[in-house]
Amino acid sequence: MTMKGEFVCVMCPNGCQIDAEYEKETAKLIAFSGNTCPKGAEWIKQEIESPMRTIATSVLVAGGDFTSASVRTTRPIPRDKIFKVMDEIRALGTLTAPLSIGQALLRNPAGTDTDVVVTRGVGVA
Ligand code: SF4
Repeated sequence: MTMKGEFVCVMCPNGCQIDAEYEKETAKLIAFSGNTCPKGAEWIKQEIESPMRTIATSVLVAGGDFTSASVRTTRPIPRDKIFKVMDEIRALGTLTAPLSIGQALLRNPAGTDTDVVVTRGVGVA
């Protein structure tokens, strides 16, 4: 089945609207318009055929000056792996302070090519 959708390119602040036509079952891009540069063409192809997302969330911390630490993936991951990676982040449970910025909490969660790192450190209370 052929689908049509409107997408906003996130590759730069211009935020061009890209109208795309794609095959639903195979996630194959058929046609698109609205991008004003080649980066937008690459982005819409990936967004339709293999969408990627960066996860930003938090983990609980005990004994720290904050009760949680912000974390994120170091690279975008395939959208269909988000729930599995979130499960692994949740499975960390409550961590113990201190946590420092850049500290890797997970490496290659769910087999993805990313780490999950701390983006806001937590000192000892
Ligand atoms: S299509 Fe090009 S100019 Fe438009 S938002 Fe994407 S990167 Fe920016």
